[in-house]
This record gives sequence, C-alpha cells and structure tokens, in this order.
Amino acid sequence: MTESCETLRLKELARINPATTASEANFDLITRLVQQILHVPAVAITLIDHDTQYLRARQGIDLETTKRGDAVCDIVVRSGKPLIIEDMHKDARVADNPAVTGPMGLRAYAGAPVTTKAGFHLGSLCALDTKPRVFSPEQIDILRSFALLVSDLLELRAQADQDYLTGILNRRGFETVLEREMSRTNRNGSAATLALMDLDHFKSVNDTYGHPVGDKVLKALADLLSTRLRKSDYLARIGGEEFAVLLPDTALERAAKVVNRMRTSVAQFRLDDYPDLSLTISIGLVDITRYDQDSAAMMREVDAAVYLAKSKGRNQTRSIPTGPSL
Ligand code: GH3
Ligand code: MG
Ligand code: MG
Repeated sequence: MTESCETLRLKELARINPATTASEANFDLITRLVQQILHVPAVAITLIDHDTQYLRARQGIDLETTKRGDAVCDIVVRSGKPLIIEDMHKDARVADNPAVTGPMGLRAYAGAPVTTKAGFHLGSLCALDTKPRVFSPEQIDILRSFALLVSDLLELRAQADQDYLTGILNRRGFETVLEREMSRTNRNGSAATLALMDLDHFKSVNDTYGHPVGDKVLKALADLLSTRLRKSDYLARIGGEEFAVLLPDTALERAAKVVNRMRTSVAQFRLDDYPDLSLTISIGLVDITRYDQDSAAMMREVDAAVYLAKSKGRNQTRSIPTGPSL
C-alpha cells in the first residue's frame, strides 16, 4: 500500500467512524449471530487506523484496542481479502503474535474485510477459536456476507451524520458527539469548549451573487475551517449558515484564540471568481463543563452569545456569562 493510499484510507476511516469505539446494538447483534452460526468462542468487528486496532463490537474478548502491529486483522486490511488460518501455531505470519502466545491463546482465525464503497479496507469481521479448526466454504461465505452488512451499516450511519453540501458533520452527528463529550467531561473533569459561528449578512451574498455561489462559499468555508482545527476537534454545519465547533480538552481562553484565528481567516477568505465577495462571522463561546448534562440550556446560552456578538457589531467573539469581546 503506497503512502497516499494509506492517507486516503485514514480519511475514509475518519468519515465513517468519527466518534470513539463505543459498541452499538446492530454491531453487537452481528457479532452474536456470527458467534452462534459459526460456533466460535469469540468474534470481533475491528477498525484499524494508523497505529491502533479498535474492537468496535466483540463477543468473548475483553479488549477495546490493540496496537496495529499486533493486529492479525491488519493482514486483511492490507490485502483486502478474507484470511483463514486453521492453526495459528503453524503460520509464520502470526505464530509469535501476542494473541496466540499470550493469555488469549488463539489458534484459529477467519476474517473478512470491512470495505467502503470507494474500496478502502478499514477493518475486518473476524471469528476466533482457541482450538485449531477448519472453516467450511459455507461458513466463510456467511462471514463475508456479514462483513458486507457491517460495511453497509457503517456507510449508512456515516451518511446520516453528514451534511450533504459540505461533507462535515450535520446537526444530528454533532449532537451525538456533544452528548458524548458532555458525559466524558462530567466523568473525568476535563475541559471542553463549544463555539457557535453564524455568518454575518449571509443573505446579502445570496441576494448579490445567487444561491449557487452562496452554496459554493459554504462549502469552501467548511474546508477552510477544517484546516484550522486539530484532529481531535469536531466541526459541524448545524444550520443553513451556522457552524459549530467542539474543542475537547480546551478551556475557554485557549478556545477563544483558536476560534479568533478562524474568524480572521474567514474575513481574509476570497473566492477566485468573485474577488469582491467578502464575509465575516460572529462567534459565541461557552464552557461546556458549566452545564452538567443540560445540552438544551447550553445551546440557549451559546445562541445568546452569538446574538450578543451580532448586536455589538458582528465579526467578533463573545461568551456567556456576558463578557467583553474575546
Ligand atoms: P446575520 O448577520 O444577522 O446572521 O444575517 P444573515 O443574513 O446571515 O441572517 P439570516 O438568518 O437573515 O439569513 C440567513 C441566510 O442564509 C438566508 C438564507 O438564504 C441563507 N442560507 C441558509 N442556508 C443556505 C444554504 O444552504 N445555501 C445558501 N446559498 N444559503 C443559505
Ligand atoms: Mg443564522
Ligand atoms: Mg447569519
């Protein structure tokens, strides 16, 4: 696999799997069915990024992640083909793998690739046994079919969370991420900041240049804003000309610096074909740890912060409780 191909694969993974490793009902069900139909003690749905294997759903295994270097499923990801190993002790590729030599004591493996529509292999659906065993052609076929189902489910879920115009998260996807982040900060006391951004006088862009150009601007701005964020931040289009940014592990003062850099780049942004078209953005900021689990109260206050920024002259950042321009 060439470097650029791996970069594209990781982009696909980020699109398909924007949020953590929490297991979900459909994936749990598939792993349980495979376990029953193939009569294996353990089954997993794995996704592999540049250095880590995530066990998205699992039966009979008590592991959330492993190093990519220790992932037998990585052979499936790299080849894009099913892999059947009847006795792992006798296969030089895996005989000294910790899953074989360690407490898990794996002896047999059957895995089928989880592949996106564009043909990128992100992980595998794998059946595991602690005894050597032969997998019949029917069993391998069943595994491949379930792996296709997993691939489809991941794609559908990603599309449901994605904004059709810009490709970034939509409101639904962002709300899921936000809820998860609120419980995480509640649990471990870490900082996090939410920014709401509303384009100033965007209606006049449509009125002057037409709706298709307005769409082009929204798409270009989503691309621009993405480049100003860290990998761990989330950017969403949660309304027509409204963007939201969640900055985990970031206190409000530092978040203000980040979003003000974004605000400056929006003001400097130009479209090649329309050099006279310029824009500004008003930003509201809130410290999400102030709201416990009450996301409705948080959204009301971040809206009020944007409103304040608008009423004080636009192209600025304000936070609630009411404070000076940040
Ligand atoms: P303000 O500074 O007060 O926010 O002014 P505004 O003009 O941005 O606010 P308003 O809410 O009056 O108008 C929002 C505009 O955004 C009007 C609407 O046509 C435009 N808009 C919303 N969604 C889209 C979209 O998907 N594409 C395009 N081209 N325009 C959109
Ligand atoms: Mg608006
Ligand atoms: Mg607006």
